[in-house]
Formats: sequence, structure tokens, C-alpha cells
Amino acid sequence: MFFFEKVSRVLDKYIIHFKGLRQGKHLFEFVVENAFFEQFPEGEITKGTLKVSVLLQKHSSMLELSFSIIGNVEIPCDRCLKPMSLPLTYEGDLVVKFSQITDDSSDELWVLSENEHELKLAHYIYESICLSMPIQRYHGMEGTDKDACDKNMLGRISQVDETKRKTDPRWDKLSELLS
Ligand SMILES: [Zn+2]
Repeated sequence: MFFFEKVSRVLDKYIIHFKGLRQGKHLFEFVVENAFFEQFPEGEITKGTLKVSVLLQKHSSMLELSFSIIGNVEIPCDRCLKPMSLPLTYEGDLVVKFSQITDDSSDELWVLSENEHELKLAHYIYESICLSMPIQRYHGMEGTDKDACDKNMLGRISQVDETKRKTDPRWDKLSELLS
């Protein structure tokens, strides 16, 4: 099972071993790079470089984590479909509690077994990055270069739209309604 071995090795960097930590605040820093995104081939992000800071507060019976993620990811532009580099920031909190019953976890609250000694954060980090992406992404939005949009591609896409409009009877209906 070579694939799974590879997965675990890349994502094992994003683990906090909390058992041996004293109570109080601890800062952890991780770097997310292309190899990280390769572990999530079903996602839209193909590349990226981000810094993840995790401030962990250990209490006697629970953990509080504050995440701060900043960097850039590469995703296709909605308009021209060419890859574009998008700046992202994410701030979020996670509470970890311990119980024998571990089935009521959510995005902001994890309930782990009392025997657990580490936090596997790779999926949480990945989902946080995905959540911080705007719904629409295109060359020209804040932090990106409008001129990088592929004009040939834009031309082709608008031609296709035009053809669709001409051949789609619903469009005529809509035009009638609007006029
Ligand atoms: Zn574009």
C-alpha cells in the first residue's frame, strides 16, 4: 500500500502531540506546500504555500486552539480557466474535549477519546483553507492581476455563451418577459 504510506508521511507533519505539554499556551507553526495539496486530489487547489499558526491553550480537561492561516493557493480562474494565485487568510477556533463517548464532534468542537494523545490537524487545515476561499475567483479580484486573464479564452467562452443563448428557447421567453 505505497499510496497510503506516502499520504501518512506528508500529513504526519500536521500533528500536535499534546499529552506531554504543560498547562498553558503553546505556539505551533506549520507550513503548507504543494505536497500537502497533492494529498487532496479531489479538491480544486493544485498548489499553494501557506503558513499555519496554532496557538494551543492546554487546560486540565480540555484544549483550546486558535488557528491563523495566511498564504496563497493556486486555483483555476472562473473566467478564463487558467490557474491563478489567490491570497487567502483564515482565522478560526477549535475546542477539544475528552470523553468516553466521542460521537458528537463538529467543526468547532472535537470530542476525543480520553486515551488520545495527539491532534491530527491536516484535514482541519485543508478544510479551513477551502472555507476561506471566496465563492467566485477570477483574475482581477483583490490581490490578483486582471491582465493575467486569458483574453483568447474569454473570447471563446463568450462565443459559446452567445451560441447557447441563440439556440436556447428559454432565452427567447426570458427576453419577451423582460421587454
Ligand atoms: Zn482569468
